Amino acid sequence: VTWDTSIIFNQLDKDFHILVIMYDISDIINVKQMQIDFLRNASHELKTPITAISGFTKTLLSGAMDDKKSLVEFLKIIDQQSDQLASLVQDVLTISHIQNGTNYVYKPLALHDFVNSELKSYDSMLANNHLTIHNQIPEHVEVNTDTTILTRILRNLVSNAIKYNQPNGEITISYDDNDSYWQLIVSDTGIGIAQKDISRLFERFYRADDSRTKQKVSGTGLGLSIVKEMVDAIGGTIHVKSQRGVGSTFTVEFPLVDEDSQT
Ligand code: ADP
Repeated sequence: VTWDTSIIFNQLDKDFHILVIMYDISDIINVKQMQIDFLRNASHELKTPITAISGFTKTLLSGAMDDKKSLVEFLKIIDQQSDQLASLVQDVLTISHIQNGTNYVYKPLALHDFVNSELKSYDSMLANNHLTIHNQIPEHVEVNTDTTILTRILRNLVSNAIKYNQPNGEITISYDDNDSYWQLIVSDTGIGIAQKDISRLFERFYRADDSRTKQKVSGTGLGLSIVKEMVDAIGGTIHVKSQRGVGSTFTVEFPLVDEDSQT
């Protein structure tokens, strides 16, 4: 615990009073430290693609451009690294947007059709990776939800299920509910997550310590921390079950809310 102290002296006739006021400022210090850590990590993560882009551009300009093979190879790296930079900036903007506080507006939504329309944008990614996706949400299901928040959660989970899948793998999106919540379940037949990584997945910038992941799949390590913050903000929960080499299942529980309610 960190204390901040104020001391007030007061003399009334012969009596001398000392008032000591102590404030517990641990929360303020912790938030400050988290902000400092976040900025330090973000700057570090930004430097990597910037250094690569600038290094490869300079190499091309100083002559490597004349060799067609190097030209194509280096431009591909520059392209990948610019995408990485763009996702990082987008994720950091999303985080600051969440931190500024957002109002959520709940409206009824036909979940099956909504998920189908979201999945359309992944068609080429799925085809390139020989993956199949199944929307098992019953057609009659209607939920009261904030579409912006649901879209962000769904996109992050689906794009991870694609990125960390295996060739000819499958992704299934399903639904369940009970008296107090409804669930969106995204499961994949991908590379899975080691037990030691599961508890840290939702930390900012954390990426599982798996060489396949680190070497082949680009990412910022911010997606799941954004999902967690949004799920917390609407009073929901998120669970992960996973087995390495077999696949992972992410289950998000959304509290049941009345139509048009706002938080
Ligand atoms: P990113 O994908 O940008 O690295 P995320 O925060 O979305 O960041 O995910 C954090 C880490 O969790 C990933 O780097 C990956 O190691 C692991 N992960 C997330 N989703 C899955 C999944 N469906 N299957 C296997 N590993 C996953």
